[in-house]
Amino acid sequence: MTSTVVTGIAELVTNDGLLEGADHSEHLGLLSDAAVVVQDGQIEWVGPLSQAPAADNRQDVGGRAIIPGFVDSHSHLVFAGDRSQEFAARMTGVRYDGGGIARSVDATRAAGDDELRALVAARVTEMRAQGTTTIEIKSGYGLTVQDEARSLRIAAEFTTETTFLGGHVVPSEFADRRSEYVDLIIGEMLSACAPHARWIDVFCEPHSAHAFTEDEARVVLSAGRDAGLGLRVHGNQLGQGPGVRLAVELGAASVDHCTYLSAADVELLAAASDNTVATLLPGVEFSTRSPYPDARRLLDAGVSIALASDCNPGTCYSSSIPFVLALAVREMNMTPAEALLAATVGSAKSLRRKDIGVIRAGNCADMTVLDAPSYLHLFYRAGVPIASALNSVGPHGY
Ligand SMILES: [Zn+2]
Repeated sequence: MTSTVVTGIAELVTNDGLLEGADHSEHLGLLSDAAVVVQDGQIEWVGPLSQAPAADNRQDVGGRAIIPGFVDSHSHLVFAGDRSQEFAARMTGVRYDGGGIARSVDATRAAGDDELRALVAARVTEMRAQGTTTIEIKSGYGLTVQDEARSLRIAAEFTTETTFLGGHVVPSEFADRRSEYVDLIIGEMLSACAPHARWIDVFCEPHSAHAFTEDEARVVLSAGRDAGLGLRVHGNQLGQGPGVRLAVELGAASVDHCTYLSAADVELLAAASDNTVATLLPGVEFSTRSPYPDARRLLDAGVSIALASDCNPGTCYSSSIPFVLALAVREMNMTPAEALLAATVGSAKSLRRKDIGVIRAGNCADMTVLDAPSYLHLFYRAGVPIASALNSVGPHGY
């Protein structure tokens, strides 16, 4: 057991509302000239450098800022193939309707295990190099019993936050037999996937012919819950619909997208804020040239908000949380502090995790270092790669 004291922290964002001596004005629990003691992947002590206890090793970050590692609570990293042409088409006005997912399904089914594993590994490395320390990974490009289970087995090599998304779209071979596909999801596919998954998710979207209706989504989520999985929902992405209502009704940890919400949806989310988080994914609106969700309306109503990447081959092939943060502030009227909280402690809450997202004694030592003196530079210097997970093989190599 060796301990390390991290020093040279010009500004430490702890997100700890109870930390003594911190600036709590924007709920970030800010400390200047701070130190953190880490042992065996756990935080042992947080406070001013002048009071830091002795440790076996010392790691000096040279006057940089440290923030809680980003928690990317929504990603689809297990896929093969390339859909850049679709992105180009959308930039000339072609609307997204969920149909392109079938192309990734074909490429993913055709890929070998080692090829898929290498693709996921490269994406995870890319995310850590941009400051992400926790990654939720969904299946959803296999859509057969074997390919969904394989996707989750590979995802589980990289994270404990794995999500079974057999209900991503109805695969083309079941296009005129939808109910048979739903039966497959809740039967043989769920049995094969549940051992490798913590969560179940479904794309509940009446505005896409490829996605699932409210009734179908309820059947899928209820079966997942009965199998011991936590619930997540893709909802209200392409238009107003039942996603939020269903997520709140079933006690889902998160309803993701929330781009089109009725007043009733916002009220439901506000009332359920202890239980259900609204996860906003503005990289998708960027990449589909769509209107952004109204984060201000949700924050003002008291809704719990998370920000995540939705990194996926169709609607947002960006794994960058700093990019998401820049969009949240510039396009969604969130303050820098609100955006940073949403991508750390907010997204941790959407995974029902208290051991990440806050730099506090007893929590995981998941921290991100910024090549800058303050967290504000994440926004101020948008597009510049200043964030990397502490101790990752990132651009800065701390
Ligand atoms: Zn998604």
